[in-house]
Amino acid sequence: MKQKSAEILAIGTELLMGNTINTNAAYLARGLAQNGINVYHQEVVGDNPQRLMDSLTQAFTRSDIVITTGGLGPTYDDLSKETIASYFGRKLVMDEASLEHIKQHFATIGRVMTDNNRKQAMMPEGCTIFPNPNGTAPGCAIEKDGKVAFMLPGPPREMKPMFEHYVIPYLLKDSDTRLCSRMIRFFGIGESGLETKLHDLMVSSTNPTLAPYAKSGEVMLRITVRVGREEDPEPLFAPMIEKIEEAAGEFIYGIDIENLQTAAVNRLKETGKTAATAESCTGGYVSKRLTEVPGASEVFQCGVCTYSNEMKEQLLQVSHETLSQYGAVSSETAKEMAAGVRRLSKADIGVATTGIAGPQGGTEEKPVGLVYVAVDSENYSEVLELHIPSRGDDAREYIRYIASSHALHLIWKAAGAGKK
Ligand code: AMP
Ligand code: MG
Repeated sequence: MKQKSAEILAIGTELLMGNTINTNAAYLARGLAQNGINVYHQEVVGDNPQRLMDSLTQAFTRSDIVITTGGLGPTYDDLSKETIASYFGRKLVMDEASLEHIKQHFATIGRVMTDNNRKQAMMPEGCTIFPNPNGTAPGCAIEKDGKVAFMLPGPPREMKPMFEHYVIPYLLKDSDTRLCSRMIRFFGIGESGLETKLHDLMVSSTNPTLAPYAKSGEVMLRITVRVGREEDPEPLFAPMIEKIEEAAGEFIYGIDIENLQTAAVNRLKETGKTAATAESCTGGYVSKRLTEVPGASEVFQCGVCTYSNEMKEQLLQVSHETLSQYGAVSSETAKEMAAGVRRLSKADIGVATTGIAGPQGGTEEKPVGLVYVAVDSENYSEVLELHIPSRGDDAREYIRYIASSHALHLIWKAAGAGKK
């Protein structure tokens, strides 16, 4: 079968003006890639019929599939349907089912339906209509001579389910293969470090393929296999995962798991352990992330945010000598904070953070970005000295986030210690 390629055409003057960020294009591009459909071009065009017609004509000289978002609203400037229908030489006709849905929608919210809302139920003749349970504008596919345009609404919460439920199945209906993927998550290694370890594997494998991604201090590796519609992908995944584990297994914290906090909470549950946090520079970030995971209450005892030295002493019994000799930002203080919160809460694992998040407060000896993260438990204790790069407008947020990631990773490690 010929490999399909698609283009994304986002319609809306607000996108061109920079008032709305074109998140639809990123979402669609990812979704198409995951389904094996190549995207070689993306474009943004304003609410202008002539320019839209030009963009559409151009796009169809290169690709067989064009996916548009936006311009399906009820107002005079929403002209996508009229323009795209005329490109395909079709008229707009009233779709009674869509009109009924729009009427129902207004009845439910108790507002009067205005005449321009009827326009949203006018659809190109002979198109396939995609209902919109999350709004009023239906979407559609219109096809001619092997070219197909999909028109989707602009609001992401209406567009996303329509793409998933209708567009993808529509595009894959003639395909005899499908793509499956698994995501391996790494912590403590950068993208380039991982690529060095896996370079030969990455360039030599075609099915599965390997694609690394880096985001906020973590690296992910997507393994993608193409299999027959009914074929089990597991026999293709298993040997590849084994090879990756051989090369970089010490950095893997999970496969097909959402994030570090989920990995930490799951492992605490598996091993029947509990954790508590004592935070200074992260100000509650670690406990926030832990409690994002449903069911964290089974394993999370308490989090204390001890910002002042007095509270570090009073609540956590960090010794006065330690604080005056080494300072609040030191491995000694971090260690005592972790042991202190463990004692206070009677949790199996105590974790602590103390550091300089900036932008002020750094010295030559203790610069911004210096953070100590400690874990204390029966089987596993460790203190990390981190030098987190402080750059850009959001350096403070970045430092706090990365420090909290290390703390979560240490909980994960400590929970697994002694476990085979
Ligand atoms: P429209 O269907 O063109 O009337 O768009 C309705 C709303 O959807 C806009 O006001 C935006 O808030 C949102 N929207 C439209 N296009 C996009 C896009 N490409 N990415 C993200 N949001 C969008
Ligand atoms: Mg618009």
